[in-house]
Amino acid sequence: MRYNKVLENIKTYEAGKPIELVVREFGIASEDVVKLASNENPIGTNPVVEKTIIANASKAHLYPDDSMFELKDALASKYTVGEENIIIGAGSDQVLEFIARAVLDENSSVLMSAVTFAMYEIYAKQMGAKIYRTASFEHKYDEFMEAYRMYKPKIIYLCTPNNPTGDATSKEAVLEIINAVDEETLIVVDGAYMEYAAAKDSKYAIAPNDLLDFPNVIYLGTFSKAYGLGGMRVGYGIAQAEMIEALYKMRPPFNISTLSLAAAIAACKDNTFVEESIALHQEQIKRYEAFAKENGFAYIESYTNFITYLFTDDMDSTKIADALLKRGVIIRNLASYGMNAMRITIGTQRQNDIFFRHFLEVIA
Ligand code: PMP
Repeated sequence: MRYNKVLENIKTYEAGKPIELVVREFGIASEDVVKLASNENPIGTNPVVEKTIIANASKAHLYPDDSMFELKDALASKYTVGEENIIIGAGSDQVLEFIARAVLDENSSVLMSAVTFAMYEIYAKQMGAKIYRTASFEHKYDEFMEAYRMYKPKIIYLCTPNNPTGDATSKEAVLEIINAVDEETLIVVDGAYMEYAAAKDSKYAIAPNDLLDFPNVIYLGTFSKAYGLGGMRVGYGIAQAEMIEALYKMRPPFNISTLSLAAAIAACKDNTFVEESIALHQEQIKRYEAFAKENGFAYIESYTNFITYLFTDDMDSTKIADALLKRGVIIRNLASYGMNAMRITIGTQRQNDIFFRHFLEVIA
């Protein structure tokens, strides 16, 4: 079988290891496994949402409302935008796919920071597009402008806060880049972790309607992080109606499930859970900062629900990650991003206690 040539150049996305794999491979009881690898919400499923999912279980035989009216209505009220400004995806991942398919071809290119969300590259490569990256993982105006003028990319990805580094770009800096780029380049502002950044420092808060004046800009959000619905796979894009109409042509019917739709509607209307999640996170991330300082290694100031620890040459992130895994602690090794670093999702108090204990033993 000969597959499309573009596939030769694509590395399969490496998802965080599931708890089941650690149970199977290392014989560790599932309750002893601590998964801090995929930036999920450590509190668990919002009980209000859980009830909604159960209440809707008897509707599993029905296709969902394909207009997704109620979810769009809830998002439109939350963000003061119109329903015509919203597209829902099976995770914001799927919206990224729609965007790539809507504008890229083998003669085009995309631009992103040196280290950023892996799916930007994968979707662009599926379309045969070329990938350009700036020198820094931070989103620096000069670096983006130089590459923009040189390559005229069809898409610029601005991930703020950025995954897997955790740093954020201020609203002012994002608008500076947007204002300097012409309308032929689509700009994705990926706010998957925006709730955490906005709660930490309003300078970094970007709301979808801050960007609605620009016909070439789309804001992406997700229910997978602060809303605790990673397993339901619901995300969204918010842009001017004309862009949303174009993206709709890429969308398969019923692209999120009946239960996912019900869950996202309930989650969207419940701010309390998000507030509690952020409060726990803000308290627990301080422990990770203090821990790094006490043990003499660097970290990137985080605006997300994870923290990135940076190691010097005497510590090898791959060895540390492997040793932690054997102990039932799953974190994300960033060696595949060319960094001697690891990304740890901030867990509950108990999960973090377990992480710190094993980590100290491993580095000893
Ligand atoms: N953007 C970024 C920056 C992410 O980190 C993720 C998930 N890891 C996504 C988008 C996709 O999230 P989802 O598909 O779960 O909405």
